[in-house]
Amino acid sequence: MPQLSREQIDYIATEVVSLLKSDGKSAAPVAEARISGHPHTSGQFSDIDSAVSAAGQAQRTLMEGTLEKRNRIIASIRKKMLSHAEDLAVRAQQETGLGRKEDKVLKNILVTEKTPGTEFLRPTAQSGDRGLMLIEPAPYGVIGAITPVTNPTSTIICNTIGMLAAGNAVVFNVHPSAKNVSLYNIHLINQAITEAGGPPNLISTVSDPTVASAQSLMQHKAVRLLVVTGGSGVVREAMHSGKRAICAGPGNPPVVVDETADIDLAAKSIIAGASLDNNIICVDEKEVFIVQSVADRLFEALGKHGAIILNKQQIQQLEKVIFSENRGPGRPAVMEKSLIGKNISFILKNIGLSVPDHVRLAIAPVDSQHPLVWTEQMMPVLPVAQVPDAHAAIDLAVKAEHGFGHTAVMFSRNLDNLSRMARLINCSIFVKNGPSHAGLGHGGEGFCSFSIASPTGEGLTNPRSFSRERRCVLVDHFRIV
Ligand code: NAD
Repeated sequence: MPQLSREQIDYIATEVVSLLKSDGKSAAPVAEARISGHPHTSGQFSDIDSAVSAAGQAQRTLMEGTLEKRNRIIASIRKKMLSHAEDLAVRAQQETGLGRKEDKVLKNILVTEKTPGTEFLRPTAQSGDRGLMLIEPAPYGVIGAITPVTNPTSTIICNTIGMLAAGNAVVFNVHPSAKNVSLYNIHLINQAITEAGGPPNLISTVSDPTVASAQSLMQHKAVRLLVVTGGSGVVREAMHSGKRAICAGPGNPPVVVDETADIDLAAKSIIAGASLDNNIICVDEKEVFIVQSVADRLFEALGKHGAIILNKQQIQQLEKVIFSENRGPGRPAVMEKSLIGKNISFILKNIGLSVPDHVRLAIAPVDSQHPLVWTEQMMPVLPVAQVPDAHAAIDLAVKAEHGFGHTAVMFSRNLDNLSRMARLINCSIFVKNGPSHAGLGHGGEGFCSFSIASPTGEGLTNPRSFSRERRCVLVDHFRIV
């Protein structure tokens, strides 16, 4: 008989209590593995087939329960995720080497508090001479979700709340480079679910996620809906899978600052937005177009608010370091992988510049064709290009966004300019006079999502995105007026 550690005994005790609370409706979890090995294994399976099958069983159990129970489960997830926001941030930062711990804490708290729940599932009704028609949002069943390395825990938390609120189960195929923290996150969420009396394995995963397991998840016949969050490659794969897919793809969010803008506000907001988690978030500001007549004032304000402004020579040196392939003007470069998501103090050391760690962003004054403008750089080096006027700035912003339709920002007090950009940029998120993350509900109104589906059109995904509409008709009755 193997000796159990204190942690394993506590873990088993919690699981038994949870199983008893959930009426014993277990989908044969990997109990043996838990006793003999790693303690953070709930919801984990060795292959996609087993994960999908367990999630399917859990989803059926969930749907036998009440909406009130679903709400209790979601409340329990929120509570646990709040208490682990920092723990998960530290683990994510350590494992991936990307971003800043304090910003990851913020992201975890934001999704936990602001991802909508069942209140978003508003049924619609129509009554008339021929009776009553009711449309209700219903679950798909098992959703296959693929998550990125850049926001590993915030995406898992956000997807889970939205998908469970709509009555689904989820099988996650997480990014292999964020495997440990993601599996731990999934384990904690399963604990929260069972503690609230929900079924085990409502969110499931494979213990060794790979691109191959992601592809078998995409092909699995019991998966009714795919939700992928990542770059162009995984979006393309999901769209070719033959299944309904919600695809949250890449962005290259431009910022336009015109001559009527509050320049101080623009500078503060640009630094806060572009430096959030060292620029790895898809909505983070990736390039700025500033109208020439106010450019000097913007650079001065950016410096005043703590950004470091690079000179020509430093930019030339930096190009050799941050690009692993420079494909020339007007084209995206390939970024040096080892510098993605790093603090600017670390990046600048490579060109012999020493700045304190609290500096969050470097500004690179460049011309509008510089490769940085056209690249989703995912590091805190922000290109700022001068342009003759607001029209030119907007036209360039549309081009630099590459038609992703993701996120854009503008600082202006000119309604004509704001309207022109809003119309032409055609993005899922357009923020006026604030940082891009105001569009995620941080410092702006509205709910949060960390899967912003621009290619497939759902925008900020929420429980309604994860629901199918079902119509129920009662003929000739229940029009009561
Ligand atoms: P990535 O595309 O490298 O990986 C994302 C996920 O897809 C991972 O789990 C990976 O294992 C999987 N994957 C990659 N190629 C695949 C393939 N051919 N088949 C099956 N699965 C595959 O992206 P990343 O580096 O993790 O994340 C950064 C990218 O994601 C950026 O482009 C960013 O803009 C984008 N992103 C978008 C959103 C959004 O809401 N729109 C949110 C976060 C990240």
